[in-house]
Amino acid sequence: MAVPKRKKSKAMRDHRRAQWMRSVPVPNVTPCPKCQEPKLPHRVCEACGFYRDRAVIVKTEDTEA
Ligand SMILES: [Zn+2]
Repeated sequence: MAVPKRKKSKAMRDHRRAQWMRSVPVPNVTPCPKCQEPKLPHRVCEACGFYRDRAVIVKTEDTEA
């Protein structure tokens, strides 16, 4: 089994442990073309209920109240 030749310094160890945040993906939020609200790609817009110029969620008076 391959064994490291030298002990990693505390600085290198801490540097490695500080990099895990970079592996967490950031959601690709883009403005909705209809209402400009931030939305995720390939998802129905939460604000206006539209997906690709089509009303998927039709908001009525009963659901908003
Ligand atoms: Zn929208």
